[in-house]
Amino acid sequence: MANISFFGLGKMGAPMARNLVKAGHQLTVFDPFPKALQAFKQKEVDIADSPIAAIENAEFVISMLPNGAHVVALYAGDDKQEGITPHLQENTLIIDCSTVDVGSVKTVFNFARDRNIAMLDAPVSGGVAAAQGGSLTFMCGASETNFARAKSVLSDMGKNVLRAGNTGAGQIAKMCNNMLLAIHMAGTAEALKLGVNNGLDANVLSQIMLQSSGCNWSLEKYNPAPGVMENAPAACDYQPGFTVELMLKDLGLAMENSIQSKSAIPMGALVRNLYSCHGLQKSDNNQLDFSSIWQMY
Ligand code: NAD
Repeated sequence: MANISFFGLGKMGAPMARNLVKAGHQLTVFDPFPKALQAFKQKEVDIADSPIAAIENAEFVISMLPNGAHVVALYAGDDKQEGITPHLQENTLIIDCSTVDVGSVKTVFNFARDRNIAMLDAPVSGGVAAAQGGSLTFMCGASETNFARAKSVLSDMGKNVLRAGNTGAGQIAKMCNNMLLAIHMAGTAEALKLGVNNGLDANVLSQIMLQSSGCNWSLEKYNPAPGVMENAPAACDYQPGFTVELMLKDLGLAMENSIQSKSAIPMGALVRNLYSCHGLQKSDNNQLDFSSIWQMY
């Protein structure tokens, strides 16, 4: 079992940290938002009062933060805070599980490498329910050696731990996956609504398409039409799940990357516009589950 410092106890980070505790690891946690720490007071974790206090004796540092600026600030510092990396012992492995741009990953990787500290990107697929159930998929960007080391702890939070390639490759895999997810979610909602507008029952049409070539994950596991699936967000007024806001963040990363990598993503650009129109129609829509794109149709 390992000494792990965990940063970012939000919707995803808190259940991930809890699963590490359950697996027997010794955790020291830090989050600047006091409410995020409340649930941990009675648990078997040490709550640190500063980032640097949190990393004493850390063999692994794991972070689950909102965006790239937060990740760079934590590890390399910014004008408001000192980065933690220069204070880590040499054999510590940094594992950042946040969804961020590849540029931020490389900034932290290079900063850490210059101080003989190894770092990998390991963003996740699966939302809060998968984080709670320990069934996340981790997509890692790392050398074989660092991947093998990270896998020993990531396996306690997820059912699939996969290596996409070297540094940054985990974020690229995540970006491609979520762009495709948005496309098939919008496509599924569009096809189902076309059927409903022509008098078909959404449930019957879903059953037919599940046995046909239109079958896909959104249709099978996360049907956007209300009344088809008991456990999908569509059955409870699109309570998330995975919010429109987070999907827009991920589609924004795909757009930025497509410019840098000179890749044509016309479907990705279109689906980003659909989600941003949906979010702009009513600001509350941003906090709905991303399957609420159904409402646009
Ligand atoms: P969240 O806003 O609920 O939690 C983020 C936490 O990080 C907050 O508690 C915040 O106070 C804390 N934080 C910010 N700066 C910090 C620092 N320097 N040190 C320690 N803690 C700090 O966000 P979330 O929904 O848990 O998402 C976290 C990451 O996971 C994001 O990158 C998101 O894109 C990704 N993600 C989220 C989901 C989801 O369904 N929510 C699914 C897959 C991936």
